[in-house]
Amino acid sequence: MIRKLNFSAGPAALPEEVLQQAQEEMLDWHGHGLSIMEMSHRSKEYVSVAEQAERDLRELMQIPDNYKVLFLQGGATTQFSMIPLNLLRDKKTADYINTGVWSKKAIAEAKRYCEVNIAATTEHNNFTSAPSQDELKLNPDAAYVHYTPNETIGGVEFDYIPETGGVPLVADMSSSILSRSIDVSRFGLIYAGAQKNIGPAGLTVVIVRDDLIGQMLPNAPTMFDYSVHAAADSMNNTPPTFGWYLAGLIFQWLKRQGGVEEMQIINQRKAEKLYAAIDQSSFYANPIAVANRSWMNVPFTLADAGLDKAFLEEAEQSGLLNLKGHRSVGGMRASIYNAVPETAVDSLIAFMAEFERKHG
Ligand SMILES: *Cc1c(COP(=O)(O)O)cnc(C)c1O
Repeated sequence: MIRKLNFSAGPAALPEEVLQQAQEEMLDWHGHGLSIMEMSHRSKEYVSVAEQAERDLRELMQIPDNYKVLFLQGGATTQFSMIPLNLLRDKKTADYINTGVWSKKAIAEAKRYCEVNIAATTEHNNFTSAPSQDELKLNPDAAYVHYTPNETIGGVEFDYIPETGGVPLVADMSSSILSRSIDVSRFGLIYAGAQKNIGPAGLTVVIVRDDLIGQMLPNAPTMFDYSVHAAADSMNNTPPTFGWYLAGLIFQWLKRQGGVEEMQIINQRKAEKLYAAIDQSSFYANPIAVANRSWMNVPFTLADAGLDKAFLEEAEQSGLLNLKGHRSVGGMRASIYNAVPETAVDSLIAFMAEFERKHG
């Protein structure tokens, strides 16, 4: 068996060690004679798996006790609705920072429920930077401020956490959670679809300060109420048991790697060497402001777009998969999440140099 190098934006690469462990446990989980997928979510065995995953995530991110950790379904996209429904409370407006495709989708959904103030946008430069703190026009009466710390498609990442003067800060961390240390207490709510940097698709993690929940708009669906999920330990209905279990294995794997602090060092090194390879060549280019270049998603173009097809074909022949850029951007994108080893980035850089030598 040869495992290829997977640069997919999501669902994305998973650590080989974790896949092997899941394989070993698949038919007979810890001597119980059945797989984890076949167990009741209310069995003491499964509950212990679920609780351990939460404890490990709390430890990895140093989540304060006054935050709930919820294991939900519906992807980050469902959070685009749940956030206004739960966090507007008696307010009528929310602030949104627009840095690209995912911000825009969150904004479009919020507009169904409230007045959206665009606190800043980088549309004028085609979303090639993040706005600075000085550029944010925040409304002190907003229910919350929403932003996307890492735009997965554009490859733009904030190099700071916005200061919101007491207004709860909400972050779509789908593609950057666990990639570097953050101070969770700066946020009102953090959410992430699992399929980029946590685990398999089908699980969504929400971390929310407990004073912000319990005031959902009347008539909204029960399953959209954070306080319902918090009261039921994310088991108001059947949770995505396999995804939750696998996320738990990944949290343990992260702890074995040295935690988020160590991943941060590795991720920075991976990203910097890939951007350096792009910058030192006139064949490859990345348009993002240097301070806002994503550590997780690295888009790049070839000087001659006519070579895109050959690039992707030859990459695939060399075992480098899923490098095609998002259809809205074109070119290439290498997603280099936690589970993508530094050696895979080295292989990509070597392939790029060789391709340039042959075709440049
Ligand atoms: C992938 C992604 C989403 C969408 O996630 P789903 O789980 O597919 O709903 C939203 N925001 C960001 C930043 C993403 O990367």
